[in-house]
Amino acid sequence: MPEISKAYRILVAHFSQESNRLNPRPADEELFVVERGRDILRSPAGVLKGLTETLVAAGANIEPVFSANGGAGGLVDHDFYLRMREELLGAVRRIKPDAIGLDLHGAMGTTETPDAEGDLLQALRDVVGSKVPIGIGLDLHGHITRRLLDNTDICIACKENPHTDFVECGQKVAELLIQQLEGRLTPVTVSARVPMILPGAGETGSGPLAEIHAKAREYAALHPSIKDISIYNVFRFTDDDEIGQVVTILSDGPSADTSSIAVDLATRFWVERERFKDDLLTVDEVFERVRSSPDKRPFAIGDMGDRVAAGAPGDGTILLSAALDGYPGLRGAVPITDPVAAARAIEAGVGATVALSVGAGFTPGFTPRLVTGLVEYVSDGNFIVEGPVGEGAHSAMGPSAVVRVDDRIQLLLTTTPADTTDPAAFTSQNVVIGNLDFIVVKSGFHFVANFAGLATPVLVNTPGVGYYRKHQFEFRKARFWPEHDIANPEITARQHSISTSLG
Ligand SMILES: [Zn+2]
Repeated sequence: MPEISKAYRILVAHFSQESNRLNPRPADEELFVVERGRDILRSPAGVLKGLTETLVAAGANIEPVFSANGGAGGLVDHDFYLRMREELLGAVRRIKPDAIGLDLHGAMGTTETPDAEGDLLQALRDVVGSKVPIGIGLDLHGHITRRLLDNTDICIACKENPHTDFVECGQKVAELLIQQLEGRLTPVTVSARVPMILPGAGETGSGPLAEIHAKAREYAALHPSIKDISIYNVFRFTDDDEIGQVVTILSDGPSADTSSIAVDLATRFWVERERFKDDLLTVDEVFERVRSSPDKRPFAIGDMGDRVAAGAPGDGTILLSAALDGYPGLRGAVPITDPVAAARAIEAGVGATVALSVGAGFTPGFTPRLVTGLVEYVSDGNFIVEGPVGEGAHSAMGPSAVVRVDDRIQLLLTTTPADTTDPAAFTSQNVVIGNLDFIVVKSGFHFVANFAGLATPVLVNTPGVGYYRKHQFEFRKARFWPEHDIANPEITARQHSISTSLG
């Protein structure tokens, strides 16, 4: 990047959570990892890392406000959201930055609004006006609304699922912000939306998504004015009236071509819609595979219905019960969110034998399981994510205990829903993955990258609020294929520009 002409003051913050409205437990401060001020620069991860490191390297002065990371969970408690919003707006009023760079998810909803990022960006814009560039880096599962785009100069998604490129996403936001500040970029974004979700096949490395991303890269290479094409696959548990697949194209100045390119890419989703299907195994098929394939052990079993990574509570017991009752030879590790059982195990202490009812404390329809086991390990539940997805992020499970049941199943009991996408969730609790035949993870995509070389990934069709099934849940506002009968939609492009050319 060329030298910059002055040391711009750039306010940065990270406020991220993916909100599953079907999880009955609102996400309040207890479910967020919050750091403030320069603490957030000690070991930043993801978009925040790429953003801040690139800005510093360019010679900008960064003004860090906070990092509030809620992972995935229920809708964010609106009062907590408002407090964080006010803290951010207060910092903006005080610091009067030249630009703002944010690490957001894009699918945060609160108990009052399904479009928290849109609300946040509109509030920021109301404070700074149109002359202060705002750049954001998002998860590609963002719910991208008109309000969000109308209030943002630079809006970039990661391109990979599993999300191994968050750092690059943050770098790109920083580079484009600097270019805009220097008058070398007049960002104009066009968007096109298709009213559909992806019922499956959400990985970007294969299948129809890989083809659409390849086409996007081809278009970007052919048009020098295109600085970014982002493709958003939306979060399937958001209930809002602008639900859909969204393609955004950011160009330097208005472009004659970007509208038709956005429409073409969005139309490809509709044309290919029947190909977006997952291939999940039943619970019995999964355990039969574990039993019959010793050379592939350990298996990492993605518990799709109870995916904490998709905002489910993580309190399912169906895989635990299947392993205990049907597969007596297998050794495994199973995480379960249960603050009461975790507290009882911790109180009993390492070496004690405890009888516990575990799980089913949050998800409607789940059944608790009675177990007796030996408390092997207790901890505060904090660990650092090894990655590549989320590398370096601070993760918190709350006070946690490992209880060994039937001398072969290690139950990881956590106070808050544990992000078990990463092996460190287990190894930090003294669980030795190599000694096991299977390990249950509450993730559908990212664990494949983070367990590579350690375990064979497999996805299991389990009940719960972490997996979309047609007509399983009620949508009040959202209208989309395949939940609703949607005739061939008219796909059009919309231009969003902030008029913040500073050149
Ligand atoms: Zn995502």
